[in-house]
Amino acid sequence: MSLPELEILCWKCWGSGIIQMEDHGQMMECPDCNGLGWIPTEDGKRILAFVQKHLGIGIEEEDEESP
Ligand SMILES: [Zn+2]
Repeated sequence: MSLPELEILCWKCWGSGIIQMEDHGQMMECPDCNGLGWIPTEDGKRILAFVQKHLGIGIEEEDEESP
């Protein structure tokens, strides 16, 4: 891999995104990675911001639809 490290495996849930509460044995979403199982590094956060900025994720609308 020549890419910079964009994300690291969450040490708390080891990539599962779910942790087990020791008290009751219940499964809950990992608070450290928000259930993703991976945590973005500083490089990863920059890439995320870059992509969201340039792709306009969540705000762009497709107007060029051919019937
Ligand atoms: Zn986690």
